[in-house]
Amino acid sequence: MHTLRLHDTLSRNLSPVTPSDGKSLRFYCCGPTVYGPAHIGNFRTFLVQDLFRRTLELTGLKAKHVRNITDVDDKTIRQSQAEGQTLTTFTTGWREKFDADCIALNLLKPHLEPGAVDHIPEQIALIQQLIQKGHAYPSEDGSVYFNVASYPAYGKLSRLDQRELKTGASETANDADEYDKESASDFVLWKARKDGDGENFWESPWGQGRPGWHLECSAMGHKYLGEDFDLHSGGVDLCFPHHENEIAQSEAATGNRFSRLWFHIEHLMVDGAKMSKSLGNLYTLADLQEKGHTPAEVRYALLKGHYRQKLNFSLDQLRDARLNLQRLADLQHHLQKASGTQPLPWKQLIKAAAKSPLQAGPFQEALQSLLHDLNAPAALGKIFSAAKLLEKNTPTKEDATTALQGLNILLQAFGLNLPEPTKEELEEAPEEIKLLAEKRWAARAAKDWAASDQLRDQLAAQGWTAKDGKESYTLHRS
Ligand code: AMP
Ligand code: ZN
Repeated sequence: MHTLRLHDTLSRNLSPVTPSDGKSLRFYCCGPTVYGPAHIGNFRTFLVQDLFRRTLELTGLKAKHVRNITDVDDKTIRQSQAEGQTLTTFTTGWREKFDADCIALNLLKPHLEPGAVDHIPEQIALIQQLIQKGHAYPSEDGSVYFNVASYPAYGKLSRLDQRELKTGASETANDADEYDKESASDFVLWKARKDGDGENFWESPWGQGRPGWHLECSAMGHKYLGEDFDLHSGGVDLCFPHHENEIAQSEAATGNRFSRLWFHIEHLMVDGAKMSKSLGNLYTLADLQEKGHTPAEVRYALLKGHYRQKLNFSLDQLRDARLNLQRLADLQHHLQKASGTQPLPWKQLIKAAAKSPLQAGPFQEALQSLLHDLNAPAALGKIFSAAKLLEKNTPTKEDATTALQGLNILLQAFGLNLPEPTKEELEEAPEEIKLLAEKRWAARAAKDWAASDQLRDQLAAQGWTAKDGKESYTLHRS
């Protein structure tokens, strides 16, 4: 049995990822705030979460994946008002754009994608529970705050020093959705209606208003995954205050541990700064497609770094991604030809994994790297070392079958759908063509360029091209 191990932010340890109910791993990812296009920094996080889910399912486990949609907060309200649209019309448009980008990037669809606006009663009920237990208090203006002093474990995820907290008095309490550690204090659960909110308010026991941002993930996490689930994930910027506040309000309300494991992804950077809307240093998938790059190239470039390290983005990385993907596609075709078999599609592969542990043959070490804290750069390095050996020698039918299956496991873990070879590409070259190609390769090795050019022309005249690699060549229909 293969086991995936991940660095858990809460314990600071490498922990095995196993379902506590023995059936399926219940995990929650904080989803997009739908007030504009998601940028590729956001997609780094969502893609690493996808790599996580794919690797997990390839170990034979089942998953229940929830990713919310933040469709009511300071930003969505401000922007919808600025554009003169209702909140629903505005957020629905951006949600659809997000869905289309997810499909293009080959992200597995979460099992549930609940929106905050559809869960107002659940959020009000959670606040009531917190007030009843003495963990929250209404303020004079009709807002409700979480009382940080009432929850001594506050700050355990980000190891925040209790002395840094300003507690109690509502004049120090925080009603912004996002703030930094210096402003740690009682935080808002319910925001009383303000003029700037327009029509975006709901009735509550404390008057008209709307929920604070942090509350939605606790309410929807409880509803769809239970009060104590397996794993919670987001970008590192969510550690504080968002996840800290989620833990406090959930655990104070239920008395249960909220999530067993915490999985945070480091930022995508541009020229040393975090890619973000506020800095305006972002690329969207559409920007990169306009420059001629494919979603698969973007996917590769965003997944190639270790998720616990910052990844600096540049367009050069997309050019590298193109070359690497081409090399993998060539290898896959080569193995398909040599084995006469086809790689299994995703659903069949995970069905096979659920029955017995997958064997990745020459790609086993690459798989082990993924299982060890999703070490993508090590896995890619090992994929290309194995590829080099396979490119050098034409494997036997049996070896090619094992290698194709192994390569497919790794490609599926990375979610890389390579272009299918055309009929012509799969065509086996006749013996006389193979002979000419061998002679040409030998002439090249002997640096007899005149003979090698002449043999290339002879191949071309019969409709064949030899594509040279470092160690060997492959034959294709021209
Ligand atoms: P948002 O749409 O701002 O709520 O963010 C959606 C997800 O993207 C969250 O998990 C963020 O932590 C993550 N995120 C935002 N910026 C970046 C970045 N530059 N690199 C990686 N993840 C990011
Ligand atoms: Zn969240």
